[in-house]
Amino acid sequence: MNELEAYSQARSLVNKLGVKSPPVPIDRLAKALGVRIEYTPFDDELSGMAFMRDGKPVIGVNSSHHPNRQRFTIAHELAHVVLHRSKLEATVLIDKGKNFIPRDATSAKGIDPFEMQANAFASEVLMPERLIRQVLAESSRDIQDDDWLISIANRFRVSLAALQYRLARL
Ligand SMILES: [Zn+2]
Repeated sequence: MNELEAYSQARSLVNKLGVKSPPVPIDRLAKALGVRIEYTPFDDELSGMAFMRDGKPVIGVNSSHHPNRQRFTIAHELAHVVLHRSKLEATVLIDKGKNFIPRDATSAKGIDPFEMQANAFASEVLMPERLIRQVLAESSRDIQDDDWLISIANRFRVSLAALQYRLARL
């Protein structure tokens, strides 16, 4: 498993779901994969977790976080379910802020490779390259234009930081 494989698995799942325009229905995708999502107001530093219960994958998400952040957490945990199943069968995976994309940078040095794969997967699931290119092609505005970027992030229901991270990797 590497980041490119993580992107390609994410792409094929979104294609199977037949998503034509943003936002990607992440809860519907989880359901289609037989994954249960549970919303709990965890401590702020805890974003989410993934574990097995009675042989079925469960994702826990911090319901006190911003809804767009919850979407990214769900997509990230879904990556662990899809890509890291043997690890998940053995243990409860807990994700704190440091396992995610840094808010103020487009690089992510020093993050565990499993977490990088999960972030790559989550990025492609929520911001499929095909849909991003489609939206970018609708306007001649520059991607340095913050208002334009914020409007795109809103359409995909992701944070601006997550969108910038995605654009930096296209
Ligand atoms: Zn993780």
